[in-house]
Amino acid sequence: MTVLKGRGVFGGIAFGVLKAFKRDYFGINSEKIYVSDHQNEIEKFKYAKDLAIKQLDNLYNEALEEVGEEHAMIFQVHRMMIEDIEYANSIISIIINENANAEYAIWLTSRNFERSFEAMESDYMQQRAVDVRDVSKRIVSCINNLSDEHGFSGRRSIIIGADDLTPSEVLELNRKVVKGFVTMLGSENSHTSILARAMGIPCVIGLGEQLRPEFEKCEAIIDSFAGAVYISPDRVTVKRLKKKKELCEQRAEFLNNFKGKEDVTLDGQKIELCANIGNVTDLGGIIESDARGVGLFRSEFIFMGRSDYPTEDEQFKIYKKLAQKLEGKHAIIRTLDVGADKKIDYFNLPYEVNPAIGYRAIRICLDRIAIFKTQIRAILRASAFGNIKILFPMIISLDEVLKIKQILNEVKHNLIQEEIEFDKNIKIGIMIETPAAVMISDILAKEVDFFNIGTNDLIQYTLAVDRQNDKINFLYNPRHIAILRMIKIVCDNAKKNNVRVGICGEIAADETLIETFLAMGIDELSMSSAFILSIRKRVREIDVKTIKDKILKEL
Ligand code: PEP
Ligand code: MG
Repeated sequence: MTVLKGRGVFGGIAFGVLKAFKRDYFGINSEKIYVSDHQNEIEKFKYAKDLAIKQLDNLYNEALEEVGEEHAMIFQVHRMMIEDIEYANSIISIIINENANAEYAIWLTSRNFERSFEAMESDYMQQRAVDVRDVSKRIVSCINNLSDEHGFSGRRSIIIGADDLTPSEVLELNRKVVKGFVTMLGSENSHTSILARAMGIPCVIGLGEQLRPEFEKCEAIIDSFAGAVYISPDRVTVKRLKKKKELCEQRAEFLNNFKGKEDVTLDGQKIELCANIGNVTDLGGIIESDARGVGLFRSEFIFMGRSDYPTEDEQFKIYKKLAQKLEGKHAIIRTLDVGADKKIDYFNLPYEVNPAIGYRAIRICLDRIAIFKTQIRAILRASAFGNIKILFPMIISLDEVLKIKQILNEVKHNLIQEEIEFDKNIKIGIMIETPAAVMISDILAKEVDFFNIGTNDLIQYTLAVDRQNDKINFLYNPRHIAILRMIKIVCDNAKKNNVRVGICGEIAADETLIETFLAMGIDELSMSSAFILSIRKRVREIDVKTIKDKILKEL
């Protein structure tokens, strides 16, 4: 047995076979491998092609239900492309004539087809280049999965090993088989880690060179409470960790007793415990955890894993579903916070030396107004179907808020003219995640209905500690007195102006700070669903009156 030590991100135990993460074939170079057995390569292609067709049929049916015929059609178009005789003939002839592997033949065919589409006059045909690339990637990934299944004798549980994973790579993990992941790099405060917590995936990061290629296909256990990974674990370790896993499950069972209970302290102070989500597929966790609502919907995640911007209608359908599924509970939708560690290819963001303090979030939206307006229209339209609030990220000035409100009013005005329903009194809020926003929170409070304190960024900007940099991770201290004082300033300014105030950074689930947040009078804490019941338990044990003065004096 080999024990690797890193840092656990989400408390959990996972068992599986270690498998190196394979990046998208087309993202890396498409190596040509000489093969003499043409028949084997052709069979591989045909088998993967059939698998891809089945996947597309399933996707079509799912999309039909979720977003309707018009948008589901794309999967039928992809199916037709895969079945195109010329496409298949090109792949087969490259395999035979160039003695090439199937993956290379697919890549070359894709590139040739893309070029001819791109050279066409019509916009519509030019856009088909993206589709041909997409279907080709799908077939190659089916080939990869075939060989994985051979390597792992079928449907065994898998633990992914990687140098690092991006947020969209985490989103695309196949949760049916992937039980956890381990990485050489990484930071607890990156969006990759935040997503892992939100999705309840046990993971251990920062393993460095300890994670070696020869562990591929070894049995492994992740204990992310202890930040440990056991490779080829011995019988005693397996038994111990099975027991630990059972205890976790028993604790989760016990916490279920807190479902349906109020978020209220012993002396009657109320607070709302809400969930942070990145997609409507996470709504299951909200029901499971009995959250009071969605305190942060990170809308940028619906822009990921695609090759082009989601249209207004596509976004509307997602937001509408969110509103409807919550049955009156509130959902705070944050407008696009893309940039920094959340890169999306089709945004074509420029290279930046300091992306975390660069072109991101509201700065992009106020620059690329069409994207912003499309999103606002979609959110407003969805607000007719439930209790939606809208939140703007990375604010540093009053000027930005006034510009945003002007754009919002223009979009509202257009909807009224078009006689499209929306909530005329929709509540608007801003993220308080920069020191500037904290220091002018008295001024900003006059312009909005609520504040959401984004401590993940507020900590990095206040302490000048990059949240992504694991070298200085030890300096990223959420309990630093400077941070607590900032939260207090925001709270006081919010209260004076009758503005609701919540915290939606990871700190919201820090049990050791719950008393402090209650003493300050925070109205809402929003966190990964997995923590809600244990925080509810803690809230219900606290008598704020008796501790408030002492806590506030120490700040
Ligand atoms: C934050 O900064 O605290 C926050 C909630 O936003 P994100 O983590 O998405 O940057
Ligand atoms: Mg932030």
